[in-house]
Amino acid sequence: MADLVERFVKDHGLICREEYQELLKRMEEPAAARYVQDEAVRLRKKYYGERVYIRGLVEFTNYCRNGCFYCGINRENRRAVRYRLSTEEILECCERGWKLGFRTFVLQGGEDPWFTDERLLGLVRSVKEAYPDCALTLSVGERSFESYRGLRKAGADRYLLRHETAEEAHYGRLHPADMSLAARKQCLYQLKRLGFQTGAGFMVGSPGQTYRELASDLVFLKELQPEMVGIGPFIPHCDTSFAKEPAGSVELTVKLLSVIRILLPAALLPATTALGTLALDGRERGILAGANVVMPNLSPGKNRKQYSLYDNKLCEGAEAAEGLLELGRRMEAIGYGLSMERGDGVQLPGREL
Ligand code: SAM
Repeated sequence: MADLVERFVKDHGLICREEYQELLKRMEEPAAARYVQDEAVRLRKKYYGERVYIRGLVEFTNYCRNGCFYCGINRENRRAVRYRLSTEEILECCERGWKLGFRTFVLQGGEDPWFTDERLLGLVRSVKEAYPDCALTLSVGERSFESYRGLRKAGADRYLLRHETAEEAHYGRLHPADMSLAARKQCLYQLKRLGFQTGAGFMVGSPGQTYRELASDLVFLKELQPEMVGIGPFIPHCDTSFAKEPAGSVELTVKLLSVIRILLPAALLPATTALGTLALDGRERGILAGANVVMPNLSPGKNRKQYSLYDNKLCEGAEAAEGLLELGRRMEAIGYGLSMERGDGVQLPGREL
């Protein structure tokens, strides 16, 4: 195992689960963590230079039929003040974003049954018709294959659906019995099959997670080969059953970003809001570890606090679309720069690196 870290770096993540577990342990040594981070930055620069892509996030509904134990907008939370944006409001968000320079819109929401296929398809068509030069990403949870197919045909380009954890028992610890890891994975494979640029991911430090679960997440990512990977620290929400659980670690999240950059060198990897929420310089640390995307908030000011997934979620300053100048300055201060392109990412031919 002495050369495990070097082997991981050389083989771009082709190691087994036990070895990933050992790798994470080894990365507790600063020298090993630094070595992995340097390689992650080298690969990130090779494929993306110093560009940081921006995505405008529109949180368009916080109604949700699911009962995920970690999430502040889960169906059991009677204290959540629910809202749903109209098509006009969503288009206004996009318009504001377009004027600011955004060329990707991410429509994210709870699994809101009001958005039948007919309504969601209509929404996708409206956004794509108004902004044909922009990429449209959806993040609205599990739907049927037919529904995904319709959304793809209507023009949606990308889909974010975190797998949350690749270990069955751990999935059961985070979700009620009516949700399953098998269903989640099936959705992800269907999305890929339909040609969506697909994003998986997980929270770091969710209750019950150890290096073993994280190692399984990494093996699953290697197998799925998603184009995007969203990871961020778990942060408790006061009105959930996980209210008293400790938050995940910024340090470990940042190390995992480097590991994921190596195992999926061309991936689009956001430095997430949760990372920025836990540490003032969280976003910068994410970028310096190999991330290449930021997702400022384009939702209407009146609703931002209501999309409360966890306590103290950032939605102002550099986290808000209006704070783009500040965000740009902060990226420049660490040697990177915001890109105004659609940012579809690069496709790697096989494993040629
Ligand atoms: N309903 C869609 C879905 O489940 O994919 C999209 C919305 S969901 C709220 C978006 C992501 O928020 C989840 O995948 C989860 O990883 C993250 N999230 C929820 N609660 C969180 C918490 N307490 N701390 C950190 N991230 C959280």
